[in-house]
Amino acid sequence: MSNPIKKWRYEAIGKSITKTLNEKGFNAVYVDTVEEARELLLSMVPEGVSIGLGGSVTLNQLDVIDHFRKGNYDLIDRYQCEDHVQKYHEALSADYFLTGTNAITLNGELVNMDCSGNRVAAMIFGPKHVIIVAGANKIVKNIDEAIARIKTIAPLNSKRNGHDTPCTLSGYCEDCRTRKRMCNYLGVIYDGWKEPDRFRMIIIGDEAGL
Ligand code: SF4
Repeated sequence: MSNPIKKWRYEAIGKSITKTLNEKGFNAVYVDTVEEARELLLSMVPEGVSIGLGGSVTLNQLDVIDHFRKGNYDLIDRYQCEDHVQKYHEALSADYFLTGTNAITLNGELVNMDCSGNRVAAMIFGPKHVIIVAGANKIVKNIDEAIARIKTIAPLNSKRNGHDTPCTLSGYCEDCRTRKRMCNYLGVIYDGWKEPDRFRMIIIGDEAGL
């Protein structure tokens, strides 16, 4: 858990953004802790369904992937496979897609940057059910700040995924021009009104993910 003064702020902005997200059709629920988020996420996914995953430190932190591996679910496991691109394709037509998000603006827009585009594509036009978990540390003022945040976090994701990009040496974005570049596809989801029950969000009043 964050230090008390940070936690106070995360709770305040987390509750406020949950209200905004609900006004925009994202069906958001606020929880205080990562542990509560875990329990809620598990309760939202029925047994027997197929599940695709977006790459997400937040989901890893919730420690749910092993639960879906071992339980009565058809997990499309991008982490334990021969061909992860094939899994990305399969995840597009899963029953459920579970993911984090890179940033949430104060207007309730979700902003994401992908290396392969699989997560952005799945969130926008993939599975019928999309569950997004995010810590309040993902909240930013607007889309420009969201992109700036993403570019600050991208070197960490590049390092985490073993990509040989200049930012893994310097720690900041150098707008690289290589096949290993992490920052290729940008997606903005303005609202969840088109398919009213498709999105569900869990907002954690604390820090989670990168
Ligand atoms: S554009 Fe390249 S250098 Fe910049 S953050 Fe993305 S991967 Fe790193």
